Amino acid sequence: MQIAVLSGKGGAGKTLLAVNLANLIEGSTFLDCDVEEPNGVFYFADTYNKEEVYTKIPVINDHLCKHCNKCVDFCRYNALIDFLGKVKVLPSLCHSCGGCQLVCPHGAIKEKDELLGYINYTSVRDHKIFGGELRIGKETGVSIIEKILAKANTNEDSVIDCPPGNGCSVMESISDADYCVLVSEPTVFGLENLKMVYDLTKIYKKKSGIVINKAVEDNGLVEAYAKEIHIPILGYIPFDKNLALSNSKLEMVSNGAFKSYFDHVLNRIKKEVSI
Ligand code: SF4
Ligand code: SF4
Repeated sequence: MQIAVLSGKGGAGKTLLAVNLANLIEGSTFLDCDVEEPNGVFYFADTYNKEEVYTKIPVINDHLCKHCNKCVDFCRYNALIDFLGKVKVLPSLCHSCGGCQLVCPHGAIKEKDELLGYINYTSVRDHKIFGGELRIGKETGVSIIEKILAKANTNEDSVIDCPPGNGCSVMESISDADYCVLVSEPTVFGLENLKMVYDLTKIYKKKSGIVINKAVEDNGLVEAYAKEIHIPILGYIPFDKNLALSNSKLEMVSNGAFKSYFDHVLNRIKKEVSI
């Protein structure tokens, strides 16, 4: 079973839930795809191994270039510009699709490797841990996410900490998930972000359920929405100062006083997946 944990914004409690679910599932693999904030690995270990991830960036050979601009017109990401009659590459916008090289009729484009980021990995007890890390200044970590997801053994359980929002990197992260857990705060802002990620899971035809984090007495806004879209509330994580303090110290709160909340969520997910 592959569980993807996502939320419409950062700080909703996605990583808190993802690491603690992985902690409770025996022998599971934890995949931190939140490459712009790669803190999930640190809940499990202080030291880890590092693998470099490279991406391909086009290089223009000015001697061969005939200034036809076919590559500039082709690039959807505006990573190629015609600057005073010379084609320039803007590496930070390039998505390494390789298309410009294919459309160039004069063989003037080659590719070079560029360091995009890292995969941090380790093993803790019976868990395998992988976390992506995007280098500062890089625009997209999709290639890192693809490589992290490839580390998961499809016969074993895994938990994915997705990036926040509903962009390409989130789409990539949930592509093979069996179940999506949508983490939301019980506020108007939380609800709006929840709607955004729910719409994404609908497009991908993924089964999903909601966990309300920082739950208070009245969580009616999110509960009413869950009813309206006919998906279950899998559980509640309380708005609790001690929990927040422990979590801020990267403690695994599912090993202590808050275990029952995470057990409950996990049991509901298992039930939902088997339906
Ligand atoms: S590789 Fe793709 S994204 Fe990058 S410059 Fe070429 S066409 Fe644009
Ligand atoms: S497609 Fe090739 S020849 Fe045309 S502008 Fe681009 S690099 Fe130059």
